[in-house]
Amino acid sequence: MMKTKFEITIGSRKLKLQTGDITKVSADAIGNAANSQLRGGGGVDGAIHRAGGRSIMRELDEIRARIGRCPAGDAVVTGAGRLPARWVLHAVGPRYRDGRSGEPEALDSCYRKCLTLADELGAQTVTLPAISTGVYGYPLAEAARVAVTATAQSLAAGPRNVTCVAFVLFGDRTFEAFTLAALAIVPQFR
Ligand code: ADP
Repeated sequence: MMKTKFEITIGSRKLKLQTGDITKVSADAIGNAANSQLRGGGGVDGAIHRAGGRSIMRELDEIRARIGRCPAGDAVVTGAGRLPARWVLHAVGPRYRDGRSGEPEALDSCYRKCLTLADELGAQTVTLPAISTGVYGYPLAEAARVAVTATAQSLAAGPRNVTCVAFVLFGDRTFEAFTLAALAIVPQFR
């Protein structure tokens, strides 16, 4: 059977990869792949709202009333309702066009923003999905490289509170792509 867990150590912190349903994994803060309207959608966003309950959308309604839409590359925070977490980090990934329309920068920014927000909230453990790799069509290998690099660099920068970030990935293909990307960056973080 395929191994479905992998981790690298970055200083005193850990970057983990695992397969699974992110709504079932406990963490202080759970990342979501949201859309600019913050109105909920399919994929991981739908799963988070279903499992977390109505309170998450009520908070997003208030945020929307205040800021309007949330641009790609940015993220907002709500409580986590019935999810096994305290906060949800709703990051808006880029819709993939051709890879030269700001998508890598926006995706990189999503992950850095999630880590910054989590650290400001005082979260120690964070789970993240593979943002933009579903409906938004980001090629998996490239998305994995951006995700793993941005997250590892954020951990290497020495957050105050965050000690562990786990990517919770739906399916073996995604897990394999993230594992290859993580193996490729290991030498940089020795
Ligand atoms: P996007 O619109 O940003 O592409 P999607 O939700 O369509 O967002 O897909 C993002 C990733 O989340 C995909 O890899 C998809 O397989 C994965 N995914 C969907 N449901 C879950 C879940 N419950 N837990 C973890 N990952 C999930």
